[in-house]
Amino acid sequence: MAIMRIAVIGAGAMGSLFGSRLAAVAPVVLVNHRKAHSDAINAEGLVVEGLDGSRRVHRLAAVSDPQTLSGPFDLAIIFTKSGQTRAAAATADRLLAPAGVALSLQNGLGNREVLAEVLGAGRALVGVTAQGATLVGPGCVRHAGDGPTWIARLGPDDRVAAAVCSLFNAAGIQTELADDPDRLVWGKLIVNVGINALAALLRVPNGVLAAEPACERLMAQAVAEAVAVAHARGIDLPYPDPLAHVRAVCRRTAENRASMLQDVLRGAPTEVAVINGAIVRLASEVGLAVPCNTFLTTLIAALEATAAFRCS
Ligand code: NAD
Repeated sequence: MAIMRIAVIGAGAMGSLFGSRLAAVAPVVLVNHRKAHSDAINAEGLVVEGLDGSRRVHRLAAVSDPQTLSGPFDLAIIFTKSGQTRAAAATADRLLAPAGVALSLQNGLGNREVLAEVLGAGRALVGVTAQGATLVGPGCVRHAGDGPTWIARLGPDDRVAAAVCSLFNAAGIQTELADDPDRLVWGKLIVNVGINALAALLRVPNGVLAAEPACERLMAQAVAEAVAVAHARGIDLPYPDPLAHVRAVCRRTAENRASMLQDVLRGAPTEVAVINGAIVRLASEVGLAVPCNTFLTTLIAALEATAAFRCS
């Protein structure tokens, strides 16, 4: 499959970063509801602040209203927050060629299932990425972390996932193929379960969570509950000691502000429903008690709901 045209749907921080790279090897359009971001990119280009402090301007097209776009596209990369995946999938359905595919690299559980419902399972690719990005302002993103990206094959002979993987590597996004989508998604989910809600509630960068014993006790309980749910569902996690893995991620990203912390600080909805909330939902299906994840999910929901009344 030759990738001819790519639409990045939900081109905020991560979508803009990936779009800027991919534009070097294929025609890319960034689709983003934030009109100010799209307008700035069309007028001045997309500025990407690199990990080394460099600033590069990338010329590529952006739209805020996908109705103004005409297809067909071969690949739609879905990079909205998980709450908007269904709307993004509907846009992908309209823009994609009949053989075109969508790829979710979002966090949280359930994005692949939503894409499969809307587009068909054979057109719904999923992956995870250790890349990180922050939206600095309209038309400007900061590359906040580097790391590999994985894409799950749809089956042993999946040439589409292989073509997307090659394209990403050609664009300088280090990417590998994997066989088991659940292993990929749960591997990342457990990390987010251990870090995100705690970082958002305590308002601390990731490194603090692994350095303070009281934080670590909460992290250990949230992770243990999630691992129990994963095991009950027969998920084969990609690392032998999940808590040690989460701690290692905290240390490696010590200065980072988790995305849920960033959401809470700017008063935006969080993805707790598809992270700790997903553990709560799935635990009830298999009869497991997950008190720590239940508490964290409820506390984040309460934090979001009371943002306007916060005392300083
Ligand atoms: P973001 O909020 O910066 O970007 C999402 C963008 O989607 C927003 O600009 C919003 O306007 C746009 N949008 C919402 N609904 C839309 C729709 N229907 N059509 C078009 N655009 C729409 O979010 P982000 O930080 O880039 O994260 C995106 C996803 O990637 C999340 O699932 C997140 O958990 C995951 N992720 C983020 C990072 C990171 O470092 N930021 C790292 C790994 C994974």
